[in-house]
Parts: sequence; C-alpha cells; structure tokens
Amino acid sequence: MKVTVVGAGLVGCLLTCYLARRGHEVTLYERRADPRRAGAERGRSINLALSERGLDALRRVGLDQRVLEGALPMPGRMMHAVDGGLTFQHYSADGRRAINSISRGDLNGILLDAAEAMPGVEVRFDHRLTGLDENTGRLTFETASGPVEVDKAQVVLGADGAFSAVRTHMQWRPGFDFSQSYLDYGYKELTIPARDGDYAFDPGALHIWPRGSSMMIALPNPGGSFTCTLFWPKSGPGSFADLDTPVKVKEHFTRHYPDAYAVMPDLLDDYEHNPVGHLVTVRCSPWHIAGSETVVGLVGDAAHAIVPFYGQGANCGFEDCVELDRCLGEKGDDFAAALALFEQRRKRNADTIADLALDNFIEMRDRVASKAFLARTKVEHA
Ligand code: FAD
Repeated sequence: MKVTVVGAGLVGCLLTCYLARRGHEVTLYERRADPRRAGAERGRSINLALSERGLDALRRVGLDQRVLEGALPMPGRMMHAVDGGLTFQHYSADGRRAINSISRGDLNGILLDAAEAMPGVEVRFDHRLTGLDENTGRLTFETASGPVEVDKAQVVLGADGAFSAVRTHMQWRPGFDFSQSYLDYGYKELTIPARDGDYAFDPGALHIWPRGSSMMIALPNPGGSFTCTLFWPKSGPGSFADLDTPVKVKEHFTRHYPDAYAVMPDLLDDYEHNPVGHLVTVRCSPWHIAGSETVVGLVGDAAHAIVPFYGQGANCGFEDCVELDRCLGEKGDDFAAALALFEQRRKRNADTIADLALDNFIEMRDRVASKAFLARTKVEHA
C-alpha cells in the first residue's frame, strides 16, 4: 500500500519504520529542513525522558541499543531545597530501574536514519502540508518553490504534532470532537553548563526544584551540561510576565534557586532569548476517517497531545506505533479497520495519561516535597 506520513518528528519516523517493515511504500513529509543538518531550535525541549514504554517500541525495530548509547540513566529524582539541601527518591522499589535522559535531536536523527534506510521509504523535507482532500487523498504542500500538489495517497497518517494540519482538515467533518486546553503555565529552557568538563550536579537523577506553585527541573546531557526547564505561571507574581528585567530575574533566582543560580553563568542571556513555550492538552475523536478513495488517520501528539509532567508524550506516541502495527497485523493491513481498532484500544489510555500528566504537575511542583523539606524551603503555597 502507498502510505503518506506527515511529520518526520519522533513518532512519524518510528511509524515509518514499522510501516516499511510491513512492506508498505512510505513517503514521509516534513515541513522543516533536515534536522540532522539544521540543528536544534533554541530553547525547544532539548532533551526528554525515555522510559520503558518507549524503549519497548524501539526494541521491536532493533533501535533501543543505539538510542541508549547516548542516554543517561536517571534511577530517581533529586529534590533541591532553597537552602541547598538535597533529597533523592528512587523511581522503583528496588532502585534499579531508570528513565533515560536523551537528546531529542539525536533521537530524531537516529529514527530518521533508520526510516531512510528501510526499503520503499522516501523522505521529503521542506514540505509543509497545507491542503488535504480527505475524500480523494489529494495533498498540497508549501515548498520553497511554491505550492506542490502530490499524487493521491491511499493512506494519509498525520504524525504532525499537537497543532496537526492533518487533524485541522479532519475537523471540518461533522461529528468530529475536538478540545484543546492550555495550562496558564508556560515553560522556558535554560542551561547549566559543564564545569571543567564535569557535571555541576549528580547526572544520575532528574533534578527538581519544587517551589509550591511553580518549579524548575533539569535533565543531564552527555558532556556535562544540564538542560533546565522552568514551569512558571504566565501571569501574576513570580510569573514570566512579572519577571521581565535582568534585575528581577537575578533577584528571583538568588532567592528561590540559589544552588542552581551559582552554576548558571548564562542565565540572563538564556532567559532573555529563549522563548516561553505553551503547555497544551489536545483530545479528539475519531482518530481516523475513511473517504471514498483514501483513509486518513492520526498518531502521536496529533491525536493526543499531553502536558510533559509525566514525561510520557513521546513514549506514548512510540507505543501508538506498536499498537497500530499490531492492529494492522490483526486486520490484514486493512487500514480503515486497523485504525478503528487502534482508536478503540488506545483512546482510553491516551485520555488517562493526559489526566495523569496534568495531576503530576501538582505532584512534582508541590507534593514530592515532604513536610520537613517544605519547612526548610519556606515554600510559598499558591
Ligand atoms: P512532534 O514531535 O511535534 O513532531 C511533529 C513533526 O511534524 C515535526 O517535525 C513538525 O515539524 C512536523 N509538522 C508539523 N506540521 C507539519 C505540516 N503541516 N507539514 C509537514 N510537517 C509538519 N515526552 C516524553 O516522552 N518524555 C519527556 O520527557 C518529554 N518532555 C517534554 C518536555 C517538553 C517541554 C515538551 C513540550 C514536551 C515533552 N514531551 C516529552 C512530549 C514530546 O515532546 C511529544 O509527545 C513528542 O514530541 C510527540 O511526537 P510527535 O512526533 O507526535 O510530534
């Protein structure tokens, strides 16, 4: 079958590997330039936590070991009190299981290499989907040389993220349920650089600075640095809107994150130049429609974007690939039937992890800290 996958992010690339393995001819379209050459965007989720859920999906196509070569295991979380006190909590009872800090760019690169190496796969960068006729499968892309119409696709799978263009076209159909809700919190990435080639904090942990109504986290990178993410309110006291001058930022960090501030020489530059990202939950249904000549479906964030506090968005999208592959196997590669079964099995799980992820924000910024810890940090509760 000729399949078009829109979006060569984490999920689109892995899905392409699974589909090509089943013998389908896949064309993968990506709006951006090849990220292996273009490099990472400033301040946009540099690294992420990969857990067993995602590793399992990579293992099934033989990619887990390659990905783990560049990963840093984090067997627990380290809470930082305002006075510099540290508390470590293992993620598993036996202390032996870990989540893995992994560079998003490296992971995407490995998945792109793997997809491109599969027989029957073609990848086209700098193609932004702008038009989709869900009856005929006719697709229009914006390219550097203007709009391009491509052949009708028998199957179109949208792996084009939380603001999916494929989903936008599906939304015109009567009966399509859709909801999108933003947290009134944003996120901003900062860096703790290596100090003489070494880590400023223990690299074997996901670091959290829980501060009641807001928090900062940090994940280690190979080479000695950490990528920190501030999760702060967008408005009000202590918010991104409030802390709008270098003096205020410096004062806030000295007061609330002094141990981190001491090892962040580029704080003010990062803070000024890195964007504030939004945190959105997207729910929709159905995840597929069958037109007269084509079938259109959604996977990954395009079907179920969640906030990042459980570290499960990409992991969940990877699990989508396993489940869709299983459904295709059970339905003899009849995409309409497989996508219907896929949604039936996945939707409830996706809704549940979306709720858990929202709840875990409160857990991480507030409840992870014991009463004694909170007393020492003099946390101001919202
Ligand atoms: P995306 O990664 O968004 O990829 C979509 C791709 O489609 C992109 O390459 C985009 O350029 C392309 N595209 C978009 N529109 C078009 C178009 N019109 N035409 C062609 N191409 C298009 N998840 C975890 O599992 N663990 C974590 O620790 C974690 N941390 C996170 C931290 C933050 C701050 C954020 C914001 C998210 C985090 N996530 C994490 C979630 C994770 O990033 C997403 O779930 C994951 O990236 C979804 O993958 P995707 O391929 O579905 O979508």
